[in-house]
Amino acid sequence: MKFLRAKTAFISATLIAAAIPASAFHIVLDAGHGGTDTGAVHSNIKEADLVLKVANKVKGLLEKDQNFQVSMTRNADRNLGLPDRVKFAETSKADLFVSIHANAASDQRAKGVEFFFQNNLPPDEESLFLASQENQAVLNSIKESHEGDELSKKGDVTAIVEDLRRQNRMMSSLRLTQTLTSTWENDASAAQATIKQAPFYVISKTSMPAVLIEVGFLTNPREAKKLSSSEYQTDLAQKIYRALLSYKEKVDNTEAKTLN
Ligand SMILES: [Zn+2]
Repeated sequence: MKFLRAKTAFISATLIAAAIPASAFHIVLDAGHGGTDTGAVHSNIKEADLVLKVANKVKGLLEKDQNFQVSMTRNADRNLGLPDRVKFAETSKADLFVSIHANAASDQRAKGVEFFFQNNLPPDEESLFLASQENQAVLNSIKESHEGDELSKKGDVTAIVEDLRRQNRMMSSLRLTQTLTSTWENDASAAQATIKQAPFYVISKTSMPAVLIEVGFLTNPREAKKLSSSEYQTDLAQKIYRALLSYKEKVDNTEAKTLN
């Protein structure tokens, strides 16, 4: 019986793995602003235009790779509200949400790339991080109880599952921003990259791991000049693509370990 159960579990895991095509990793790219909402405008560069160009280049790279499915919240210069962007990502059942923006600051010296993720945790983060580790055992026992068809327990554990899902999403978003940062750090000629936390609407309201990328400062004359060049936009897109590839590999490795 024990053997049978183990074997059934193995077969289910194999079926699940086989049923998920590699292309199922769905990324929604969100070019910020658009239409009457131009975003920042400096040095003759309109943020809405620049980020659409970069997003399109990332899309081009992702589309060539059959491991990814890619959608854009907007692919033209049009108005699109923040809730509509979130709704689009939710109805697309995206695995990842990547919002692309360009920065502006009163200090012209401000420069570099910034990656924002949303940390939903209350101030006492460390204890909650620890709690999430400790709760892993609870999650495992929930999985087992479902396998055993003891679904009556479901109501009791919904809140815990929801909490774990929220924490997992936050951890995945952090991992995504770290992967992006290390891609920049591995390129000595690249602009400096920083990870920050902020409650931007689009990365707060989406239920999947999400990042908001500020590709550079339009208020910094040197950076603005670079950002206006098609070659630099391509370089940015390639870095974002490489980071997404690397992030997906990490997710796949984690899932393979779970399935085994
Ligand atoms: Zn913006």
